[in-house]
Amino acid sequence: MAKVCKFGGTSMADGNIINAVKKIIESDKERRFVVVSAPGKRYSGDTKVTDLLYACYSAIEKTGELGETFEPVKARFRSIVKELNANFDIEQTLSETQKLIEKERSADFTASRGEYLCAVIVAKVLGAKFIDARDVIFFTESGALDGDRSYKAIAEACRGEKICVFPGFYGSDTNGRVKTFSRGGSDITGAVVARAVNASLYENWTDVSGFLACDPRIVDSPKRIKSISYKELRELSYMGANVLHSESIFPVRKANIPIRIKNTFRPDDEGTEILPSSRYKPSGDIVTGVAGKKNFTVIYIEKSLMNSEVGFIAKVLAVLAEENIPVEHIPSGIDTMSLVIESGYLGGSKLGRVIDGIQNAVDPDVIRVIENIALVATVGHGMSSSVGTSARLFNAIAAADINIAMIDQGSSELNIVVGVRNEDYERCIKAIYAEFFS
Ligand code: ADP
Ligand code: ASP
Ligand code: MG
Repeated sequence: MAKVCKFGGTSMADGNIINAVKKIIESDKERRFVVVSAPGKRYSGDTKVTDLLYACYSAIEKTGELGETFEPVKARFRSIVKELNANFDIEQTLSETQKLIEKERSADFTASRGEYLCAVIVAKVLGAKFIDARDVIFFTESGALDGDRSYKAIAEACRGEKICVFPGFYGSDTNGRVKTFSRGGSDITGAVVARAVNASLYENWTDVSGFLACDPRIVDSPKRIKSISYKELRELSYMGANVLHSESIFPVRKANIPIRIKNTFRPDDEGTEILPSSRYKPSGDIVTGVAGKKNFTVIYIEKSLMNSEVGFIAKVLAVLAEENIPVEHIPSGIDTMSLVIESGYLGGSKLGRVIDGIQNAVDPDVIRVIENIALVATVGHGMSSSVGTSARLFNAIAAADINIAMIDQGSSELNIVVGVRNEDYERCIKAIYAEFFS
């Protein structure tokens, strides 16, 4: 039986915390596979190493060289090694890394060095084997994770080793060049390693005592979720509860490996367990959690007899596909449909082109654009079986004097998504939380 432990940025923020991480790992013989993120913020206002590294790459892009931009990265790692009181020299690794960044000239390679350097240090501190993710995590031509190839390579690299340390966040593309997952992607690395070594548990160590019913930065000390299904987790994390990357469930789901969210700063706290739906026992709560994200645009389309016009939706979607724009939700009625799109995809002249394209493709009676919309998802297995949940939800939002611009009840019957104005976002989360949890 072996566990995979992924430690996030705040768990790597300084040498003292890394010492606490060492204790956590050494307190359980099954904790044999360790995945680390780049050092995160030590205090509010501090900069994550990954963000420092993206700034390094911007300098290379603008001026052709790093200039002084790599100095703060070096300083962070020097102070970590000093705080660890460890008996090794990081200088050579730092200067080699700097040279490689200048040679490779790629955003992904530059950003990945935070995880790389951190894993080199943690492996030394633990006396463990360092396994470079570049050699064992692979992407396909289209940029997706090449699971089978990665699982095999990881299992091979770990064979006979007691403790292995992997840098999170990156792997290599089909040309052997470093490629990263999206931000927060070390969670995915942890899940990939868990699948590869057939772990009994994937522990995800962070700075909160579990998955909470909503963002603790919006509601003070929200209720901890004791147990949650992969499905609910996917809905909540996709909708902005980024305590765990929303793609991290895919590798473990197939192998039924449970995940547990744990707090590095309170290791005895129980945390949250994430289980396959088959093993998950509902808590009895109607709602499991609430999450959301800001900055969406709704394109509302109305046309009489829309429903009987064969291929109407397909024609509208073809316009978006042409512009390479993904659509988040498509709530629809008999003669109406809306497209909910992340506003970031509609910058420059794109919105205008999309509107013109839809106009030409389907000749609607009305087409209207509503900008600055936030989406708020209320998620829970108990929602479909409990009469009156939507009424309670909408009443709570109305009582807070918040106007709902869009409603989408997912066909999974696991969630209801509402669109509200960006400025009402926090109040909307608070109102829903108060209705179902207070
Ligand atoms: P790590 O660096 O360990 O990967 P992250 O910053 O990615 O940590 O995720 C942990 C943070 O997620 C918490 O500090 C918290 O502010 C935020 N968060 C947002 N929504 C939730 C939620 N529903 N439950 C717990 N934490 C949440
Ligand atoms: N360090 C990377 C980021 O900041 C990956 C991670 O933390 O998971 O996004
Ligand atoms: Mg994270």
